[in-house]
Amino acid sequence: MAKKFYITTPIYYVNASPHIGHSYTTIAADTLARHMRASLGDENVWFLTGTDEHGQKIKRAADDQSLSPQEFVDKVVVQFKDLWVKLGISNNDFIRTTEDRHIVFVQKALEILYNDGKGDIIYKDNYEGLYCTPCETFWTPMQAEGQLCPDCKRPVEKISEVNYFFRTSKYQQWLIDHIRKNPFFIRPEVRRNEVLSFLTLNPLNDLCISRPRERLNWGIPLPFSQDHVAYVWFDALINYISAVGAFDEKGNYRSAWWQDDSQVVHLVGKDILRHHAVYWPIMLHALGIRPPDTIFAHGWWLMGENKMSKSRGNVASPLEMADKYGVDTYRYFLLRDVPFGLDGNFSEDAIIRRFNADLANDLGNLVFRTLTMIEKYYGGVVPEQGTLDEKGRYIASEAKDLHEHVAAILGVADFDFGSALEKIWEVINLANKYVEETKPWNLAKENKVKELEAFIRLLVEVIRQVDICLYPFMPRTAESIRGQIGEKMISKGNPLFPRINL
Ligand SMILES: [Zn+2]
Repeated sequence: MAKKFYITTPIYYVNASPHIGHSYTTIAADTLARHMRASLGDENVWFLTGTDEHGQKIKRAADDQSLSPQEFVDKVVVQFKDLWVKLGISNNDFIRTTEDRHIVFVQKALEILYNDGKGDIIYKDNYEGLYCTPCETFWTPMQAEGQLCPDCKRPVEKISEVNYFFRTSKYQQWLIDHIRKNPFFIRPEVRRNEVLSFLTLNPLNDLCISRPRERLNWGIPLPFSQDHVAYVWFDALINYISAVGAFDEKGNYRSAWWQDDSQVVHLVGKDILRHHAVYWPIMLHALGIRPPDTIFAHGWWLMGENKMSKSRGNVASPLEMADKYGVDTYRYFLLRDVPFGLDGNFSEDAIIRRFNADLANDLGNLVFRTLTMIEKYYGGVVPEQGTLDEKGRYIASEAKDLHEHVAAILGVADFDFGSALEKIWEVINLANKYVEETKPWNLAKENKVKELEAFIRLLVEVIRQVDICLYPFMPRTAESIRGQIGEKMISKGNPLFPRINL
Protein backbone atom coordinates (compact mmCIF):
# COMPACT_ATOMS: atom_id res chain seq x y z
CA MET A 1 0.00 0.00 0.00
CA ALA A 2 1.22 3.47 -0.90
CA LYS A 3 2.37 5.75 1.91
CA LYS A 4 0.80 8.88 0.49
CA PHE A 5 -2.38 9.53 -1.41
CA TYR A 6 -2.80 12.42 -3.83
CA ILE A 7 -6.22 12.91 -5.38
CA THR A 8 -7.44 15.54 -7.81
CA THR A 9 -10.60 16.67 -9.52
CA PRO A 10 -10.24 18.32 -12.91
CA ILE A 11 -9.83 22.06 -12.60
CA TYR A 12 -13.22 23.32 -13.68
CA TYR A 13 -13.64 25.68 -16.58
CA VAL A 14 -15.18 28.84 -15.19
CA ASN A 15 -17.08 30.01 -18.26
CA ALA A 16 -20.31 29.27 -16.36
CA SER A 17 -21.62 28.45 -12.89
CA PRO A 18 -20.97 25.05 -11.28
CA HIS A 19 -23.46 22.29 -12.10
CA ILE A 20 -24.27 18.79 -10.85
CA GLY A 21 -21.43 17.22 -12.82
CA HIS A 22 -18.82 19.41 -11.11
CA SER A 23 -20.28 18.59 -7.72
CA TYR A 24 -20.33 14.87 -8.53
CA THR A 25 -16.61 14.63 -9.24
CA THR A 26 -15.76 16.82 -6.28
CA ILE A 27 -17.94 14.89 -3.80
CA ALA A 28 -16.46 11.60 -5.03
CA ALA A 29 -12.91 12.94 -4.59
CA ASP A 30 -13.80 14.32 -1.18
CA THR A 31 -15.18 10.97 -0.06
CA LEU A 32 -12.00 9.17 -1.14
CA ALA A 33 -9.79 11.79 0.47
CA ARG A 34 -11.66 11.50 3.79
CA HIS A 35 -11.61 7.72 3.57
CA MET A 36 -7.85 7.65 2.91
CA ARG A 37 -7.13 10.13 5.71
CA ALA A 38 -8.69 7.65 8.10
CA SER A 39 -6.18 4.96 7.12
CA LEU A 40 -3.04 6.96 6.19
CA GLY A 41 -3.41 9.94 8.53
CA ASP A 42 -4.35 13.50 7.57
CA GLU A 43 -0.74 14.42 6.87
CA ASN A 44 -0.42 11.75 4.15
CA VAL A 45 -3.37 12.74 1.99
CA TRP A 46 -3.53 15.68 -0.37
CA PHE A 47 -6.72 16.66 -2.16
CA LEU A 48 -6.53 19.26 -4.93
CA THR A 49 -9.26 21.00 -6.87
CA GLY A 50 -9.31 24.32 -8.70
CA THR A 51 -10.32 26.28 -11.74
CA ASP A 52 -9.22 26.53 -15.35
CA GLU A 53 -9.39 30.20 -16.27
CA HIS A 54 -7.78 30.85 -19.65
CA GLY A 55 -8.89 30.44 -23.26
CA GLN A 56 -11.27 31.68 -25.85
CA LYS A 57 -14.52 30.70 -24.16
CA ILE A 58 -13.61 32.65 -21.02
CA LYS A 59 -12.62 35.65 -23.10
CA ARG A 60 -15.95 35.52 -24.89
CA ALA A 61 -18.00 35.06 -21.70
CA ALA A 62 -16.19 38.05 -20.19
CA ASP A 63 -16.85 40.15 -23.30
CA ASP A 64 -20.54 39.28 -23.05
CA GLN A 65 -20.66 40.81 -19.59
CA SER A 66 -18.41 43.75 -20.51
CA LEU A 67 -15.81 42.62 -18.00
CA SER A 68 -12.11 42.00 -18.39
CA PRO A 69 -11.32 38.25 -18.39
CA GLN A 70 -9.63 38.60 -15.00
CA GLU A 71 -12.65 40.39 -13.51
CA PHE A 72 -14.91 37.74 -14.98
CA VAL A 73 -12.98 34.74 -13.60
CA ASP A 74 -12.58 36.42 -10.21
CA LYS A 75 -16.34 36.64 -10.07
CA VAL A 76 -17.14 33.06 -11.15
CA VAL A 77 -14.45 31.39 -9.06
CA VAL A 78 -16.25 32.57 -5.91
CA GLN A 79 -19.27 30.45 -6.87
CA PHE A 80 -17.10 27.35 -7.03
CA LYS A 81 -15.33 28.06 -3.76
CA ASP A 82 -18.61 28.81 -1.97
CA LEU A 83 -20.22 25.64 -3.30
CA TRP A 84 -17.35 23.49 -2.04
CA VAL A 85 -17.67 25.01 1.41
CA LYS A 86 -21.40 24.40 1.34
CA LEU A 87 -20.96 20.75 0.27
CA GLY A 88 -18.42 20.08 3.00
CA ILE A 89 -15.52 19.56 0.59
CA SER A 90 -12.22 19.02 2.40
CA ASN A 91 -9.75 20.02 -0.35
CA ASN A 92 -6.26 20.88 0.89
CA ASP A 93 -5.59 23.35 -1.89
CA PHE A 94 -7.42 25.21 -4.62
CA ILE A 95 -5.42 26.15 -7.68
CA ARG A 96 -6.35 28.76 -10.26
CA THR A 97 -4.52 28.79 -13.57
CA THR A 98 -4.29 32.59 -13.42
CA GLU A 99 -2.15 32.42 -10.28
CA ASP A 100 1.53 33.31 -10.58
CA ARG A 101 2.65 29.99 -9.08
CA HIS A 102 0.94 28.19 -11.97
CA ILE A 103 1.95 30.59 -14.76
CA VAL A 104 5.63 30.50 -13.77
CA PHE A 105 5.55 26.70 -13.59
CA VAL A 106 3.88 26.27 -16.99
CA GLN A 107 6.47 28.54 -18.60
CA LYS A 108 9.27 26.58 -16.95
CA ALA A 109 7.79 23.28 -18.20
CA LEU A 110 7.53 24.67 -21.73
CA GLU A 111 11.09 25.95 -21.59
CA ILE A 112 12.39 22.55 -20.48
CA LEU A 113 10.53 20.74 -23.26
CA TYR A 114 11.63 23.32 -25.83
CA ASN A 115 15.31 23.46 -24.81
CA ASP A 116 15.89 19.82 -23.90
CA GLY A 117 13.98 18.57 -26.89
CA LYS A 118 16.04 20.67 -29.32
CA GLY A 119 13.18 20.72 -31.79
CA ASP A 120 12.37 17.09 -31.33
CA ILE A 121 9.62 17.61 -28.70
CA ILE A 122 8.32 21.09 -29.46
CA TYR A 123 8.58 22.44 -32.97
CA LYS A 124 7.20 25.33 -35.00
CA ASP A 125 5.11 24.72 -38.07
CA ASN A 126 2.57 26.26 -40.32
CA TYR A 127 -0.83 25.02 -39.45
CA GLU A 128 -3.78 24.84 -41.74
CA GLY A 129 -6.94 23.35 -40.48
CA LEU A 130 -10.60 23.57 -39.74
CA TYR A 131 -11.10 25.23 -36.42
CA CYS A 132 -14.11 25.32 -34.13
CA THR A 133 -13.74 28.48 -32.05
CA PRO A 134 -16.27 27.62 -29.30
CA CYS A 135 -14.63 24.21 -28.78
CA GLU A 136 -11.09 25.52 -29.36
CA THR A 137 -10.36 22.44 -31.41
CA PHE A 138 -8.86 21.80 -34.81
CA TRP A 139 -10.53 19.12 -36.90
CA THR A 140 -9.48 17.23 -40.01
CA PRO A 141 -11.75 17.60 -43.06
CA MET A 142 -12.91 14.04 -42.48
CA GLN A 143 -13.90 14.75 -38.89
CA ALA A 144 -15.60 18.04 -39.70
CA GLU A 145 -18.16 16.56 -42.04
CA GLY A 146 -20.11 19.21 -43.94
CA GLN A 147 -17.79 21.85 -42.45
CA LEU A 148 -19.44 21.34 -39.06
CA CYS A 149 -17.74 20.71 -35.72
CA PRO A 150 -18.38 17.04 -34.78
CA ASP A 151 -18.77 18.04 -31.11
CA CYS A 152 -21.00 21.11 -31.14
CA LYS A 153 -22.29 21.01 -34.75
CA ARG A 154 -21.40 24.65 -35.34
CA PRO A 155 -19.64 25.72 -38.54
CA VAL A 156 -15.84 25.42 -38.49
CA GLU A 157 -13.49 28.06 -39.91
CA LYS A 158 -10.52 27.43 -42.16
CA ILE A 159 -7.45 28.78 -40.42
CA SER A 160 -3.85 29.04 -41.54
CA GLU A 161 -1.25 30.19 -39.03
CA VAL A 162 2.16 29.54 -37.53
CA ASN A 163 2.00 27.55 -34.31
CA TYR A 164 4.02 25.40 -31.94
CA PHE A 165 3.47 21.66 -31.82
CA PHE A 166 4.14 18.97 -29.29
CA ARG A 167 5.43 15.78 -30.92
CA THR A 168 2.99 13.42 -29.22
CA SER A 169 3.38 10.89 -32.03
CA LYS A 170 6.88 10.14 -30.74
CA TYR A 171 5.40 8.71 -27.51
CA GLN A 172 2.47 6.75 -28.88
CA GLN A 173 4.02 3.31 -28.53
CA TRP A 174 5.34 4.11 -25.05
CA LEU A 175 1.80 5.02 -23.96
CA ILE A 176 0.24 1.90 -25.46
CA ASP A 177 2.79 -0.23 -23.61
CA HIS A 178 2.19 1.64 -20.38
CA ILE A 179 -1.57 1.14 -20.55
CA ARG A 180 -1.14 -2.55 -21.35
CA LYS A 181 1.26 -3.08 -18.45
CA ASN A 182 -0.89 -1.20 -15.92
CA PRO A 183 -4.45 -2.47 -15.78
CA PHE A 184 -5.45 0.15 -13.19
CA PHE A 185 -4.03 3.11 -15.10
CA ILE A 186 -7.31 3.88 -16.89
CA ARG A 187 -10.56 2.91 -15.19
CA PRO A 188 -13.19 1.64 -15.53
CA GLU A 189 -12.30 -1.19 -17.90
CA VAL A 190 -14.63 0.01 -20.64
CA ARG A 191 -12.80 3.36 -20.80
CA ARG A 192 -9.42 1.64 -20.77
CA ASN A 193 -10.46 -0.41 -23.78
CA GLU A 194 -11.75 2.71 -25.52
CA VAL A 195 -8.44 4.53 -25.12
CA LEU A 196 -6.42 1.48 -26.13
CA SER A 197 -8.39 0.93 -29.29
CA PHE A 198 -8.18 4.62 -30.16
CA LEU A 199 -4.40 4.51 -29.73
CA THR A 200 -3.85 1.26 -31.56
CA LEU A 201 -6.08 2.17 -34.52
CA ASN A 202 -5.06 5.79 -35.13
CA PRO A 203 -1.70 7.44 -35.52
CA LEU A 204 -1.60 10.28 -32.98
CA ASN A 205 -1.54 13.74 -34.50
CA ASP A 206 0.97 16.06 -32.90
CA LEU A 207 -0.77 18.42 -30.53
CA CYS A 208 -0.91 22.11 -31.41
CA ILE A 209 0.02 23.73 -28.09
CA SER A 210 -0.08 27.42 -28.96
CA ARG A 211 -2.51 30.07 -30.07
CA PRO A 212 -1.37 33.24 -31.84
CA ARG A 213 -1.71 36.22 -29.59
CA GLU A 214 -3.36 38.32 -32.26
CA ARG A 215 -6.27 35.86 -32.18
CA LEU A 216 -6.31 35.16 -28.45
CA ASN A 217 -4.54 37.18 -25.79
CA TRP A 218 -6.05 35.49 -22.71
CA GLY A 219 -3.49 32.80 -21.96
CA ILE A 220 0.00 32.08 -20.68
CA PRO A 221 2.67 33.58 -23.01
CA LEU A 222 5.09 31.00 -24.43
CA PRO A 223 8.55 31.67 -22.99
CA PHE A 224 10.13 31.21 -26.44
CA SER A 225 7.65 33.21 -28.51
CA GLN A 226 6.06 36.49 -27.53
CA ASP A 227 3.56 36.07 -30.37
CA HIS A 228 1.89 33.03 -28.84
CA VAL A 229 0.04 31.90 -25.73
CA ALA A 230 -0.25 28.29 -24.53
CA TYR A 231 -3.21 26.20 -25.65
CA VAL A 232 -5.67 26.14 -22.76
CA TRP A 233 -5.56 22.34 -22.28
CA PHE A 234 -1.77 22.27 -22.16
CA ASP A 235 -1.87 25.01 -19.54
CA ALA A 236 -4.69 23.38 -17.55
CA LEU A 237 -3.40 19.80 -17.28
CA ILE A 238 -0.16 21.03 -15.76
CA ASN A 239 -2.07 22.18 -12.64
CA TYR A 240 -1.78 18.66 -11.24
CA ILE A 241 1.96 19.10 -10.88
CA SER A 242 2.30 22.87 -10.59
CA ALA A 243 0.21 22.82 -7.39
CA VAL A 244 2.33 20.24 -5.58
CA GLY A 245 5.93 20.71 -6.70
CA ALA A 246 8.60 22.62 -8.59
CA PHE A 247 11.48 22.06 -11.03
CA ASP A 248 14.96 22.23 -9.57
CA GLU A 249 17.89 23.92 -11.35
CA LYS A 250 18.54 20.84 -13.45
CA GLY A 251 14.93 20.70 -14.58
CA ASN A 252 14.03 17.72 -12.39
CA TYR A 253 10.57 17.82 -10.88
CA ARG A 254 10.44 17.69 -7.07
CA SER A 255 7.23 17.09 -5.17
CA ALA A 256 6.16 15.84 -1.78
CA TRP A 257 3.05 14.31 -3.31
CA TRP A 258 4.02 13.08 -6.77
CA GLN A 259 6.50 10.47 -5.63
CA ASP A 260 7.26 6.84 -6.32
CA ASP A 261 5.63 5.73 -3.08
CA SER A 262 2.50 7.84 -3.46
CA GLN A 263 -0.72 6.82 -5.09
CA VAL A 264 -1.77 9.52 -7.57
CA VAL A 265 -5.42 9.48 -8.67
CA HIS A 266 -7.21 11.78 -11.12
CA LEU A 267 -11.00 11.68 -11.18
CA VAL A 268 -12.47 13.07 -14.41
CA GLY A 269 -15.71 13.04 -16.37
CA LYS A 270 -15.69 10.68 -19.34
CA ASP A 271 -15.93 13.61 -21.77
CA ILE A 272 -12.38 14.70 -20.90
CA LEU A 273 -10.83 11.27 -20.68
CA ARG A 274 -8.78 11.55 -23.87
CA HIS A 275 -7.01 14.70 -22.72
CA HIS A 276 -6.16 13.01 -19.45
CA ALA A 277 -5.37 9.50 -20.64
CA VAL A 278 -3.49 10.38 -23.84
CA TYR A 279 -2.00 13.88 -23.79
CA TRP A 280 -1.36 14.24 -20.09
CA PRO A 281 0.72 11.07 -19.54
CA ILE A 282 2.73 11.94 -22.64
CA MET A 283 3.40 15.46 -21.37
CA LEU A 284 4.56 14.01 -18.06
CA HIS A 285 6.74 11.41 -19.73
CA ALA A 286 8.40 14.04 -21.90
CA LEU A 287 9.12 16.04 -18.74
CA GLY A 288 10.66 12.98 -17.08
CA ILE A 289 7.80 12.61 -14.59
CA ARG A 290 6.03 9.33 -13.99
CA PRO A 291 2.35 9.01 -15.00
CA PRO A 292 -0.41 9.02 -12.37
CA ASP A 293 -1.48 5.63 -11.01
CA THR A 294 -5.12 5.91 -11.96
CA ILE A 295 -7.25 8.08 -14.17
CA PHE A 296 -10.85 7.26 -13.41
CA ALA A 297 -13.55 8.51 -15.80
CA HIS A 298 -17.02 8.65 -14.32
CA GLY A 299 -20.31 8.88 -16.21
CA TRP A 300 -22.77 11.68 -16.74
CA TRP A 301 -25.94 12.62 -14.94
CA LEU A 302 -28.67 12.70 -17.53
CA MET A 303 -32.09 14.28 -17.45
CA GLY A 304 -34.17 11.74 -19.29
CA GLU A 305 -32.11 10.85 -22.36
CA ASN A 306 -30.03 13.99 -22.48
CA LYS A 307 -26.83 15.15 -20.93
CA MET A 308 -27.44 18.15 -18.71
CA SER A 309 -26.16 21.22 -20.44
CA LYS A 310 -26.65 24.91 -20.28
CA SER A 311 -27.67 25.10 -23.93
CA ARG A 312 -30.42 22.52 -23.37
CA GLY A 313 -31.65 24.45 -20.33
CA ASN A 314 -31.98 21.25 -18.25
CA VAL A 315 -29.35 22.00 -15.64
CA ALA A 316 -30.14 21.22 -12.01
CA SER A 317 -28.29 23.38 -9.52
CA PRO A 318 -26.24 21.58 -6.87
CA LEU A 319 -26.76 24.50 -4.48
CA GLU A 320 -30.51 24.27 -4.84
CA MET A 321 -30.51 20.48 -4.34
CA ALA A 322 -28.33 20.73 -1.24
CA ASP A 323 -30.57 23.45 0.20
CA LYS A 324 -33.72 21.54 -0.51
CA TYR A 325 -32.73 18.04 0.62
CA GLY A 326 -29.67 18.61 2.77
CA VAL A 327 -26.00 18.39 1.84
CA ASP A 328 -25.54 14.82 3.05
CA THR A 329 -28.67 13.56 1.31
CA TYR A 330 -27.35 15.03 -1.91
CA ARG A 331 -23.91 13.49 -1.38
CA TYR A 332 -25.47 10.13 -0.50
CA PHE A 333 -27.77 10.13 -3.51
CA LEU A 334 -25.00 10.86 -6.02
CA LEU A 335 -22.70 8.15 -4.70
CA ARG A 336 -25.36 5.55 -3.98
CA ASP A 337 -27.84 5.70 -6.82
CA VAL A 338 -25.57 4.86 -9.75
CA PRO A 339 -22.43 2.69 -9.94
CA PHE A 340 -19.42 5.01 -10.24
CA GLY A 341 -18.42 5.03 -13.91
CA LEU A 342 -21.89 4.61 -15.42
CA ASP A 343 -24.36 7.28 -16.50
CA GLY A 344 -27.23 8.03 -14.15
CA ASN A 345 -30.64 9.60 -14.36
CA PHE A 346 -31.01 12.63 -12.18
CA SER A 347 -34.42 13.25 -10.72
CA GLU A 348 -35.77 14.75 -7.52
CA ASP A 349 -38.16 11.80 -7.21
CA ALA A 350 -35.18 9.49 -7.02
CA ILE A 351 -33.56 11.68 -4.33
CA ILE A 352 -36.78 11.59 -2.29
CA ARG A 353 -37.07 7.81 -2.66
CA ARG A 354 -33.51 7.36 -1.36
CA PHE A 355 -34.16 9.84 1.41
CA ASN A 356 -37.28 8.17 2.70
CA ALA A 357 -36.15 4.57 2.32
CA ASP A 358 -32.44 4.55 3.13
CA LEU A 359 -31.98 7.62 5.27
CA ALA A 360 -35.25 8.21 7.14
CA ASN A 361 -36.36 4.61 7.43
CA ASP A 362 -33.14 2.63 7.80
CA LEU A 363 -30.39 4.84 9.20
CA GLY A 364 -32.48 7.55 10.89
CA ASN A 365 -34.75 5.01 12.49
CA LEU A 366 -31.93 2.89 13.90
CA VAL A 367 -30.31 5.90 15.54
CA PHE A 368 -33.56 7.40 16.81
CA ARG A 369 -35.01 4.22 18.30
CA THR A 370 -31.69 3.40 19.99
CA LEU A 371 -31.49 6.86 21.55
CA THR A 372 -35.12 6.66 22.60
CA MET A 373 -34.56 3.34 24.39
CA ILE A 374 -31.43 4.59 26.16
CA GLU A 375 -33.39 7.58 27.32
CA LYS A 376 -36.40 5.55 28.39
CA TYR A 377 -34.72 2.57 30.06
CA TYR A 378 -31.42 4.05 31.28
CA GLY A 379 -32.09 7.73 31.79
CA GLY A 380 -29.63 8.64 29.00
CA VAL A 381 -26.68 6.56 30.22
CA VAL A 382 -25.15 4.19 27.65
CA PRO A 383 -25.43 0.66 29.11
CA GLU A 384 -22.47 -1.69 29.65
CA GLN A 385 -21.55 -4.54 27.34
CA GLY A 386 -23.32 -7.83 28.09
CA THR A 387 -23.60 -11.39 26.84
CA LEU A 388 -25.20 -11.69 23.40
CA ASP A 389 -27.17 -14.50 21.83
CA GLU A 390 -25.95 -16.12 18.62
CA LYS A 391 -27.73 -13.65 16.35
CA GLY A 392 -26.38 -10.76 18.39
CA ARG A 393 -22.83 -12.09 18.17
CA TYR A 394 -23.13 -12.39 14.41
CA ILE A 395 -24.30 -8.78 14.07
CA ALA A 396 -21.52 -7.60 16.39
CA SER A 397 -18.88 -9.30 14.25
CA GLU A 398 -20.37 -7.95 11.01
CA ALA A 399 -20.24 -4.47 12.52
CA LYS A 400 -16.69 -4.93 13.72
CA ASP A 401 -15.50 -6.01 10.25
CA LEU A 402 -17.48 -3.35 8.42
CA HIS A 403 -14.68 -0.84 8.09
CA GLU A 404 -12.36 -3.47 6.70
CA HIS A 405 -14.99 -4.49 4.14
CA VAL A 406 -15.59 -0.91 3.06
CA ALA A 407 -11.84 -0.25 2.82
CA ALA A 408 -11.42 -3.36 0.66
CA ILE A 409 -14.10 -2.14 -1.74
CA LEU A 410 -12.75 1.41 -1.98
CA GLY A 411 -9.16 0.18 -2.11
CA VAL A 412 -9.63 -1.16 -5.61
CA ALA A 413 -9.18 1.61 -8.15
CA ASP A 414 -12.76 1.15 -9.36
CA PHE A 415 -13.93 3.21 -6.36
CA ASP A 416 -17.24 1.43 -6.06
CA PHE A 417 -18.96 3.86 -3.69
CA GLY A 418 -22.35 2.26 -4.28
CA SER A 419 -21.22 -1.19 -3.11
CA ALA A 420 -19.45 0.30 -0.10
CA LEU A 421 -22.67 2.04 0.94
CA GLU A 422 -24.66 -1.13 0.29
CA LYS A 423 -22.32 -2.97 2.64
CA ILE A 424 -22.90 -0.34 5.34
CA TRP A 425 -26.65 -0.59 4.85
CA GLU A 426 -26.55 -4.36 5.16
CA VAL A 427 -25.35 -3.92 8.72
CA ILE A 428 -27.89 -1.15 9.44
CA ASN A 429 -30.66 -3.39 8.22
CA LEU A 430 -29.41 -6.40 10.18
CA ALA A 431 -29.64 -4.29 13.32
CA ASN A 432 -33.11 -2.96 12.48
CA LYS A 433 -34.36 -6.47 11.79
CA TYR A 434 -32.88 -7.64 15.08
CA VAL A 435 -34.81 -4.94 16.92
CA GLU A 436 -38.06 -6.07 15.32
CA GLU A 437 -37.38 -9.73 16.10
CA THR A 438 -36.13 -9.24 19.64
CA LYS A 439 -38.84 -6.77 20.63
CA PRO A 440 -36.85 -5.01 23.37
CA TRP A 441 -40.05 -3.54 24.83
CA ASN A 442 -40.98 -7.13 25.78
CA LEU A 443 -37.58 -7.68 27.40
CA ALA A 444 -38.28 -4.56 29.46
CA LYS A 445 -41.76 -5.73 30.40
CA GLU A 446 -40.48 -9.17 31.38
CA ASN A 447 -37.76 -7.50 33.42
CA LYS A 448 -34.95 -9.28 31.51
CA VAL A 449 -32.42 -6.69 32.66
CA LYS A 450 -29.17 -8.31 31.44
CA GLU A 451 -30.62 -9.23 28.04
CA LEU A 452 -31.95 -5.73 27.46
CA GLU A 453 -28.65 -4.15 28.45
CA ALA A 454 -26.61 -6.34 26.12
CA PHE A 455 -29.09 -5.77 23.33
CA ILE A 456 -29.05 -1.99 23.51
CA ARG A 457 -25.29 -1.89 23.93
CA LEU A 458 -25.01 -3.91 20.70
CA LEU A 459 -27.09 -1.32 18.87
CA VAL A 460 -24.73 1.38 20.15
CA GLU A 461 -21.71 -0.56 18.87
CA VAL A 462 -23.34 -1.06 15.48
CA ILE A 463 -24.11 2.65 15.21
CA ARG A 464 -20.53 3.56 16.18
CA GLN A 465 -19.07 1.33 13.45
CA VAL A 466 -21.58 2.55 10.88
CA ASP A 467 -20.74 6.09 11.87
CA ILE A 468 -17.01 5.59 11.24
CA CYS A 469 -17.67 4.08 7.80
CA LEU A 470 -20.26 6.68 6.90
CA TYR A 471 -18.11 9.67 7.79
CA PRO A 472 -16.32 10.00 4.40
CA PHE A 473 -19.66 9.92 2.56
CA MET A 474 -21.81 11.97 4.93
CA PRO A 475 -19.50 13.87 7.27
CA ARG A 476 -22.09 16.10 8.91
CA THR A 477 -24.48 13.23 9.58
CA ALA A 478 -21.66 11.18 11.10
CA GLU A 479 -20.66 14.11 13.31
CA SER A 480 -24.23 14.61 14.41
CA ILE A 481 -24.56 10.93 15.36
CA ARG A 482 -21.29 11.17 17.31
CA GLY A 483 -22.65 14.21 19.06
CA GLN A 484 -25.80 12.36 20.08
CA ILE A 485 -24.25 9.07 21.21
CA GLY A 486 -21.36 9.93 23.46
CA GLU A 487 -18.93 7.64 25.21
CA LYS A 488 -21.06 7.39 28.36
CA MET A 489 -24.08 9.62 27.91
CA ILE A 490 -26.44 10.41 25.07
CA SER A 491 -27.72 13.76 23.99
CA LYS A 492 -30.74 13.07 21.85
CA GLY A 493 -31.61 15.57 19.13
CA ASN A 494 -34.31 15.69 16.49
CA PRO A 495 -34.58 12.77 14.03
CA LEU A 496 -31.69 12.98 11.51
CA PHE A 497 -33.92 12.57 8.49
CA PRO A 498 -37.57 13.44 9.05
CA ARG A 499 -39.57 11.75 6.27
CA ILE A 500 -40.49 13.78 3.22
CA ASN A 501 -44.21 13.36 2.59
CA LEU A 502 -45.26 13.66 -1.01
ZN1 LIG B 1 -17.42 22.86 -31.71
